[in-house]
Amino acid sequence: MFDCIILGAGLAGCVLAERFASDGKRVLLLEKKEHIGGTCYDFYDKSGILVHKYGPHIFNTDNETVWKYVNRFSDFRIYHHRVLGVIEGKKVPIPFNLESLYQLFPSTYAECIENKLLDKYAMNTKVPIMELQNQDDPDLKYLANYIYEYVFLHYTQKQWGMSPEEVGGTATARIPFYISRDDRYFQNRYQGIPVNGYTDMINHIIANENIHVLLKTDYHKVIELDQLTHTIKFLGLPYNGKVIVTVPLDELFEFCFGHLPYRTLDFKFETFNTEYFQEICTVNYPNNYDFTRITEFKYMTGQVHPQTTIVKEFPKQYDWKDKSQEPYYPIPQEKNTILYNKYRTLLDEFSNVILSGRLADYKYYTMSETITNALGAFDKYCVDNIK
Ligand SMILES: Cc1cc2nc3c(=O)[nH]c(=O)nc-3n(C[C@H](O)[C@H](O)[C@H](O)COP(=O)(O)OP(=O)(O)OC[C@H]3O[C@@H](n4cnc5c(N)ncnc54)[C@H](O)[C@@H]3O)c2cc1C
Repeated sequence: MFDCIILGAGLAGCVLAERFASDGKRVLLLEKKEHIGGTCYDFYDKSGILVHKYGPHIFNTDNETVWKYVNRFSDFRIYHHRVLGVIEGKKVPIPFNLESLYQLFPSTYAECIENKLLDKYAMNTKVPIMELQNQDDPDLKYLANYIYEYVFLHYTQKQWGMSPEEVGGTATARIPFYISRDDRYFQNRYQGIPVNGYTDMINHIIANENIHVLLKTDYHKVIELDQLTHTIKFLGLPYNGKVIVTVPLDELFEFCFGHLPYRTLDFKFETFNTEYFQEICTVNYPNNYDFTRITEFKYMTGQVHPQTTIVKEFPKQYDWKDKSQEPYYPIPQEKNTILYNKYRTLLDEFSNVILSGRLADYKYYTMSETITNALGAFDKYCVDNIK
C-alpha cells in the first residue's frame, strides 16, 4: 500500500514525490499524459532539436533554497533571456526601457524624457506606467500612454481575448517602464536552463525507488473522493494515506459548481534549414498577426545544430470538452476566484488531502513559485505531523 498518492506528475507533483519518498514514504505518482513534467516537458523533435512542448520555459528565481534544490538534480546553463517587441515596424527591447525609448523616438526627445524620469526616479527603477499616467508632465503622460497602446493593449487583447479592464485592473498597474539600459527580460539573481533539459532534470528529481510512476493513467480510474462520507477510496478500497492534488479542483469534484475558465494556446512549431531564424530568442508581436510571439529554442538551450526550430503561440479560449487542449492560464477575474473558493471549501472536510501547483490553486505560478509552494506544502505536512 502507498503512504501517499499524487495526482499529476508536473513539477509540483514530482517535487512532492521526491520530498515524501526521501522521507521514506512509498509514493504513487499518477499522470494522465504519456510523459512526466507537465507543462515543463521538453523533448528532441524530428530534427534532433531540443524543444519545449508547452511553450518556452526559462528558469528564473531570487530564492536561494529553490535554486539550490534544482541544482541538486541538474547543472544549469546560465542564460539571460532577452525579448524584442515589434513596435511601429522596429524591434525594440521588452520590457520597455531606455534603449527602447531611444530606438523609437528622436534622440533629443528621448533624452528630454530620460532626464525628466531621472529627475524623479533612480536609475534601474521599474516605474509602473499607471504612475506615469498620473503625472502632470505631458511628456511622461505621453510615454505612459504610448507604452500602454503599443506594448500592452493589443498584446493583452490577443492573450486574454478581452480588454485589460475586463481581465482585471492589476495587470495594467504592473506594466513597467524600466529606467535602465539592462535589456534582460528578468532581473532575478539566478537564471538559466537545465543543461540536458527539464525532462531530464525532473527524471532525476523522481529517481527514487520509493516512487512508483503510472503514466497514461487518469486518476479518476483509481481514486474516488466521496463527498457524502468525506472518505477516499483507492481501487475501490478505503484509503487513509495522503492524497496530493496538483490537478484542477473543478474536475476533481465533477464540475459540480461549473467550469473554471482558462486561456489556452495553439503552438505551431516550424523547423528551418538555417542555423538561426531570428536575431534573439523571443520576438513579441503585440500589434500584428494572430500569434503573440515567436521563440527560437536554440538561443536558450545553447544547442549547436545546422537547423533551427521556432514556435509561434496562438492564444484562444480553453474548451474542456476538447481533450487535445491544455488549461494554461487561469483567468484572474473576481468571479472565477469566487467559483474556485467554492470548490476549495469542499476539500476542508478531507483531512488527508494536500493541494499544490498551478491547477489545484487556480493561479499562474512560475517554476520557482511552484517549487517554493511544493516545498512549503511538505514542510507544513512535517510540522503538522510532529504536533
Ligand atoms: C506557455 C507557458 C510558458 C511558461 N513559461 C515559464 C517560464 O518561462 N518560466 C517559469 O518559471 N514558468 C513558466 N511557466 C509556468 C510553469 O509551466 C509552471 O510553473 C509549472 O509547470 C507548474 O507545474 P504544476 O505541476 O503545478 O502544473 P502542470 O505542469 O500543469 O502539472 C499538472 C499535471 O497534472 C496532470 N493531470 C491533469 N489532470 C489529470 C488527471 N485527470 N489524471 C492524471 N493527471 C492529470 C497534467 O497532465 C500535468 O502533467 C509557463 C507556463 C506556460 C503555460
